[in-house]
Amino acid sequence: MKKYVIVTGGVCSSLGKGIAAASLGSLLESRGLAVRMVKIDPYINVDAGTMSPYQHGEVFVTDDGAETDLDLGNYSRFTDSPLSRANSITTGQVYQEVIQREREGRYLGRTVQVIPHITDRIKQRIMSVGEQEGVDVTIVEVGGTVGDIESIPFLEAARQMIHEIGHEHVISVHLTLIPEVGGNELKTKPTQHSVKEMREIGIQPDVLLCRCPRPMEEDMRRKIASFTNVAYEAVVSAHDVESTIYQIPLVYHEQKLDEIVCSRLDLQCADADLSNWEHVVHTFKTATTTLRIGVVGKYIDLADSYKSIDEALYHGGIANAVRVELVKIDSERLERTGKVGEALEDLDGILVPGGFGSRGIEGMVATAHYAREHRIPYFGICLGMQIMVIEWARNVMKLADADSTEFSPDTPNPVVSLLEEQIDVHNYGGTMRLGASESRLVEHTFIYRAYGTERITERHRHRYEVSNRYRAELKESGLRVSGTTPDQELVESVEWDDHPWAVGVQFHPEFSSRPSKAQPLFRDFVHAALERHTARAKRDRVPEVATASEG
Ligand code: GLN
Repeated sequence: MKKYVIVTGGVCSSLGKGIAAASLGSLLESRGLAVRMVKIDPYINVDAGTMSPYQHGEVFVTDDGAETDLDLGNYSRFTDSPLSRANSITTGQVYQEVIQREREGRYLGRTVQVIPHITDRIKQRIMSVGEQEGVDVTIVEVGGTVGDIESIPFLEAARQMIHEIGHEHVISVHLTLIPEVGGNELKTKPTQHSVKEMREIGIQPDVLLCRCPRPMEEDMRRKIASFTNVAYEAVVSAHDVESTIYQIPLVYHEQKLDEIVCSRLDLQCADADLSNWEHVVHTFKTATTTLRIGVVGKYIDLADSYKSIDEALYHGGIANAVRVELVKIDSERLERTGKVGEALEDLDGILVPGGFGSRGIEGMVATAHYAREHRIPYFGICLGMQIMVIEWARNVMKLADADSTEFSPDTPNPVVSLLEEQIDVHNYGGTMRLGASESRLVEHTFIYRAYGTERITERHRHRYEVSNRYRAELKESGLRVSGTTPDQELVESVEWDDHPWAVGVQFHPEFSSRPSKAQPLFRDFVHAALERHTARAKRDRVPEVATASEG
């Protein structure tokens, strides 16, 4: 029998349900089980592609080109679950599919209703992942908070699954909050209410993951267990961790979460091997050097806008046994104040991430200019690479007003422009160049050194490209084109020649980085930042030595 774990959240949003689900996935994998992860988003958008990163955080792209919720990024960093379009379900998709079937006459004669038609479709979507050959456990994370109107059909589908497939095959894990009130008192009441709400829907949680600022005391666990009908050992303290989120699987394992889930699901499996996570946490905790890496973008105010980039930078830190401190810099503010040097001079490395629209672009161009002139390691991702090309065209090729037609449709020098096939596209959903495709790298370049191979596959999400009209001129003036599509039609990466490390890529390498296996470009970028840091530290020490010898 295939097994399912339904993960829900209570009390309020942003409790880290994605990381909790992903951590459980990684624990089950560490016991030799084949795990699949599914995210349900109860919004009506068909996918996350049309949503602003301000509203919903980063859009995570799968190999097959689905634009999904950022929790799929958490799954890909914590587990080996293959992720594709099938692993991300939204209300919009479910309704679209049911309405399509209705139009095709598949429900002929019947009234199409939320129950059973929408709930049946939800179950089919979940099981199309879970019933695949070789899969042992599928973890289904239901987005939103229990009690939201929007998530009711999904919870009803989960209730039906428990009832139809059986409680020994489908269990419920509920993430809840134990807030601290009036000084340092932890309160269980919101959790009691949240479980009550679950029970009203017809689901009795099997496991509670209780988010709290510090480890829960035994008597509190007992109290929660008795009020909620959850077994004492299944009330897990999901307390804040002091160092890194990658410690969370270890915190859960200490409380035997994997054992509890396996026993509830009647799964016989090996002991957990968590050496990978132990290594990651140990490296993080023992690192003595901290690098300051600037991320200069326009979606700075929301912490999750560049989630995969932030994590990939931390992974680069782990690979180099250093800590990375992220310095988020608003490019629009940089543009307004003009204080570019002041903001950037003390950084060890600068990354310009992806983005859309013209706001803040000049601040990014000024950033690339500063990094190039001051020889600061620079990493440009997607938009960040296009910025490198625009800066080069303006300042080295002296093409005044060089720009992307995205920001300046009538520029006399469109060094970045729309792909031919994008010109007549007027629909916004899923119409970009999306998903994994191959690039060919040029030897003796930073990027080739990072990957150590000529052919690579990475994910794309963009409409604009370096214009081939300017390609020869860009190269002649010294901009290194270090990667192209295999047919050499499109530019995939560029570099500054006489520079410690500067790479711009049209794709998104951040999506394939893992804590114990940093994506090679992030590893090398952080390494270059470390070299700058070390050189500057040495330089700063010299006067002290000189003074000492003088004295
Ligand atoms: N806006 C740019 C484009 O569409 C860059 C996209 C991105 O950074 N993901 O090409």
